Amino acid sequence: MKITELPDIFTKALPVLEEINNNGFEAYFVGGSVRDLLLGRHIHDIDIATSAYPEEIKNIFKKTIDTGIQHGTVTVLQGNESYEITTFRTESGYQDFRRPDHVTFVQNLSEDLKRRDFTINALAMDTEGNIIDHFNGLEDLQRHKIKAVGKAENRFHEDALRMMRAVRFMSQLEFDLDPLTRKAIEDNHELLAKISVERIRDEFVKMGIGPGSREAFQVFLDTGLAEHVPGFAGKNDALAIFPKLNFAPSTEANLWALMIILLKIPDDKIAHFMRMWKNSNALERQVASTVEFFDLISAQDPTNYDLFKVNVATIASAIDLAHILGQPINGQALIDRYEALPIKENSDLVINGSFLLKNGIPAGPQVGEILEKIKEKIVEGELANEQKEISQFLTETINHE
Ligand code: ATP
Ligand code: MG
Repeated sequence: MKITELPDIFTKALPVLEEINNNGFEAYFVGGSVRDLLLGRHIHDIDIATSAYPEEIKNIFKKTIDTGIQHGTVTVLQGNESYEITTFRTESGYQDFRRPDHVTFVQNLSEDLKRRDFTINALAMDTEGNIIDHFNGLEDLQRHKIKAVGKAENRFHEDALRMMRAVRFMSQLEFDLDPLTRKAIEDNHELLAKISVERIRDEFVKMGIGPGSREAFQVFLDTGLAEHVPGFAGKNDALAIFPKLNFAPSTEANLWALMIILLKIPDDKIAHFMRMWKNSNALERQVASTVEFFDLISAQDPTNYDLFKVNVATIASAIDLAHILGQPINGQALIDRYEALPIKENSDLVINGSFLLKNGIPAGPQVGEILEKIKEKIVEGELANEQKEISQFLTETINHE
């Protein structure tokens, strides 16, 4: 098979491959970019494989970075672009079913393709656009199959993360799992326990927000993989709702929020759950406020002050979650109400703490409390955001006490 019309991202990189060829070495586009090219999907980056050793690549190009030189990867800087160029290699000495202890450079492409995870990821393309397919990747692309290169069981023993990658690609590409590859996951799911949470999480998130997430999630549950990720063991019944949803979450934050809701994790355990998955504090806060606001709008109509206290992204996420879970929420009405608030940020307020002090409020905790009260009254339409009115309100408050 030969591709005649290459997208810009490839033609731009061609001079790099040609330069390697001119120096007497082989160079190919490999992996995800070739797969995505053949599927007509968006290509976010390209990987290049070569017979040249890293030192040789460094001699050929002026500007390079030692990205992962021990694994054979050098980054070449060309114009505004950067290209990861990796020497053909095999991997060996997989201890503990994790990443290889060391890599061995090899002289032919075929050996390099053999160590790749799935047939659709083991395709290469030369500078002329010829597709190199040693493992029937093209046929599997056509059949929409995720199939391990070689004996699936052996491949999962080498690196158990590949089992998560299988369901991740199912979801992203909306492909099926080859039956033998699936059987190997069923038989070896407990090996996933050896893999670091960070690596599992990255694949889990890609699975959870891909277009085929519901089908992939079903396989994630049925094969036993879910038993070996933080907080999911023994929770298959609660999680079985995911594949039955009318539609699935499309953002990382909402994927986590949905997991927390399905698993019925109480508010005071959300931080712990998010940390078990090694998520960032920023994401944890975003997710916690979304879940909290979702709970609120599920139970009652929020006040304007409730709307004011969260940001519009949180409101939008909570509305999304309500739709995902089939709750009858009028999302547009909430957004409209938020948009109509007289103040949306603290900085929209025409006064601040020192204004309160000047108007006779003694320094102390009540400054903050009264400021909050003022904001509440303003968003509820009981007080105008004007200094005159606010100072009158303050006089009344003081006289009252
Ligand atoms: P994406 O679009 O998510 O980047 P990708 O296929 O490029 O998809 P990467 O994780 O970037 O995935 O890996 C690049 C290539 O390296 C893969 O296509 C595959 O050939 C190979 N690869 C990556 N991870 C593994 C692994 N754990 N085992 C075997 N091969 C792998
Ligand atoms: Mg990639």
